[in-house]
Amino acid sequence: MERYQRQIQLEDIGLKGQQALANAKVLVVGAGGLGSPVLQYLAAAGVGSLGVADMDTVALSNLHRQLLYTTADVGKPKVQAAKERLESLNPNVEIRVYPEGVHTANVMQIIQPYDLIIDGTDNFSARYLINDACVKSKKAWIYGALFKHQGQFALFNHRGGPCYRCLYPKPPAAGEVAGCNVLGVLGTVAGIIGLQMAHLALQTIIWPEEVPNQSVYYMNQHTFNLQQLKISKNQNLCDNVQSESWELPRTNALANCELPKNTLSLNDAMVLDQALFLDVREIQELPRIGAVDLQIPLGELEQRLNELDKEKTYIAFCKSGQRAKTAVNLLKKHHFEAVYALSSSAQHLKNAIENENSTTNEVY
Ligand SMILES: [Zn+2]
Repeated sequence: MERYQRQIQLEDIGLKGQQALANAKVLVVGAGGLGSPVLQYLAAAGVGSLGVADMDTVALSNLHRQLLYTTADVGKPKVQAAKERLESLNPNVEIRVYPEGVHTANVMQIIQPYDLIIDGTDNFSARYLINDACVKSKKAWIYGALFKHQGQFALFNHRGGPCYRCLYPKPPAAGEVAGCNVLGVLGTVAGIIGLQMAHLALQTIIWPEEVPNQSVYYMNQHTFNLQQLKISKNQNLCDNVQSESWELPRTNALANCELPKNTLSLNDAMVLDQALFLDVREIQELPRIGAVDLQIPLGELEQRLNELDKEKTYIAFCKSGQRAKTAVNLLKKHHFEAVYALSSSAQHLKNAIENENSTTNEVY
């Protein structure tokens, strides 16, 4: 009573609202810039059961925005550091951790015990996976995303409301959208959007009938402008996702910070954020791919490494995938870290890119 006194005093919360918080089970996927404030505030407010899924370790460069961790935590698994910190903040909260993160294979099982899922990840493949798994399991989830000094947040799939695909039906093409690790972010912006998500979660638990579930909110931290955009439900799309024939999207290797494998399928390549395609075929080989980012024939690659940037992610492709693998080995030898060989042919890639361009036209 003493711990929660100030919120119980609010007449529209009271003991009833506090009991709802104590009974709530919330899963937070991604304990980074967004997940960190969400976890701190939900634990402090007395949410009875919290799940934390993340496979990362704490890095020094996390600490300016992930205030859940301290300098002493650098190098520790995030879930372990988070559990220790949250338990010392509020020992009444039960914390379960999922150090393997959330993937295609385990997502349905991991979300099953929870009433509300919060996506604190920073990539599209995790977001679509969480959306589809929540639509299939009829669970509400809270979304948040950052872009430089702007952020957005929303509650999806709550009591018949629209889902993320109702807003953005398909993921953007690879390389179309850059992430925080490329663009940078100020800690306060991540914190503010994380707090909006935490607040939406409290509202959903305490006032499930009144919480806004039909809108996405855009916040600009330069101008302090908050915009509300109404989302209309695409019933067919939601029904499709719910049907048994709809397969969960495959998460790519980077999405959950797994140790990346060197070969990517076409599906994974198309959803990999911030990646550039590198054509290692000879210049005269067909078909040409108009949208390709860079063309360096395999034989010239070693002499032309200065045209590549070690900070960037490259997906090499060729006719069959063989030369692409050789290119990746060569780049690895020269200390490029984020390089992959596409297991599909140039023709398949061309088809996929053309298909993508003809069907997606949304602004992310
Ligand atoms: Zn939908």
